[in-house]
Amino acid sequence: MRTIIFGGTVVTENGMADRDILIEDGRITDLPEHMGAQNRSRVCDKEIDASGRYILPGAVDIHTHMDLDVGIARVIDDFYDGTVAAACGGTTTIVDHMAFGPKGCSPWHQVREYHHLADGNAVVDYGFHGVLAHVNEEVLDDMAQIAREEGITSFKVYMTYDSRLDDLDLMRVLDRAAKERILIASHCENHGIVTNNREKFVREGKTQTKWHPVSRPCEAEAEAVNRLLYLAQAAGEAPVYIVHLSTRKGLEEIRRARSAGQRHFGVETCPQYLLLDEKLYDDPREGLKAVMAPPLRKQEDRDALWKALADGELDTVATDHCPFTFAEQKQLGALDFTKCPSGAPGVEERLILLYSEGVGKGRITLPQLVRYACTNPARISGLYPRKGTLEKGADADLVILDPGKEWTLTTGLMHGASDYTCYEGMKVKGAVERVLLRGKTIAADGAFTGKRGDGQYLHRGISSLA
Ligand code: MN
Repeated sequence: MRTIIFGGTVVTENGMADRDILIEDGRITDLPEHMGAQNRSRVCDKEIDASGRYILPGAVDIHTHMDLDVGIARVIDDFYDGTVAAACGGTTTIVDHMAFGPKGCSPWHQVREYHHLADGNAVVDYGFHGVLAHVNEEVLDDMAQIAREEGITSFKVYMTYDSRLDDLDLMRVLDRAAKERILIASHCENHGIVTNNREKFVREGKTQTKWHPVSRPCEAEAEAVNRLLYLAQAAGEAPVYIVHLSTRKGLEEIRRARSAGQRHFGVETCPQYLLLDEKLYDDPREGLKAVMAPPLRKQEDRDALWKALADGELDTVATDHCPFTFAEQKQLGALDFTKCPSGAPGVEERLILLYSEGVGKGRITLPQLVRYACTNPARISGLYPRKGTLEKGADADLVILDPGKEWTLTTGLMHGASDYTCYEGMKVKGAVERVLLRGKTIAADGAFTGKRGDGQYLHRGISSLA
């Protein structure tokens, strides 16, 4: 069966062009100039009209937490619900960050656990980042083996939380990662700053959500970003990826490293750090919805991050999708923000927020949106050019975007299992009209049309940063 998507404007990171797209066996076989109706029906069995629409590569979200078990609670989206939300929002590939697993477990334990959770359930293509919660020679050998055998070519470390790694363990990891060309993704916050604040605030009864951002100040992020980059440099430019950068101060450390010539690193931010303000925490009830780490920041931080995207100083926009319910799970923090499960939904909202708030408001261009939400995430996770771009031979993962449709973001229109969106009531211009995964329509006009288990596991290649 051959399909043609005709009449649209194809967008890649390099620009826009009026092209039709020919699809066969789930792949893009050609991108000819617009063909006439007679030619179309001669070469194709099925036609999809994209006149007046943009066609983007299926978006790639390399920071999600489906079915994450954080001990005090479990994320409400499993791999089915969460990937249905992804699909409806135009995301056709995710790379999910694993939970830690039982204390002291081998990294293989979670690889098996995550196959069990995702295989047969995911509706978009998916891969996993490994996670390292403790380090010894055996764990490092397992990391290398998992990278080779499973195509899990990136592992995450945390610089805060109970399962954080100290500098010595970080160096052991980075040293081996540099040799094996494994990307190390890091949650960068200084554990001492955050923990001291939290303990102090709890002692002083400062447990309302307004103290959450104060407990995790920009210095905590900037210090850890700076340290990670220096440690990576000292390990022979080990490839590192800084997840969810949220502050102007952290960005200054990125600039310092870039101007010193360090190249093997990438930086991610997320829509919540581009669009939402820490004033949300002033309301002790509503504020629970946005309890996440790092916390929401100030206008000056958002301005700096948008400008960094416009100037090409960041690499990706991912989501850190980590949804809990407001009615129940988030209420664990009702009397004390330190007891609130940390995270919020976002996988479905990302692409259209970047389009409406980013492209629509002139902060970034449409090709830049494609670079940050599709192409760079694919490159960095070792999936390019199969994913993240529209070219001959790539998977026919694509989004048909209606640039004119105006609508209001609201929970009822979202497909995840959570009972809220942080963007409730936001006016949006532009809509995801249809989404294809390997040539098959999996979402159309706001409804999921795919099938449970149709997502394929992605054995990933080496990261472009390695
Ligand atoms: Mn995360």
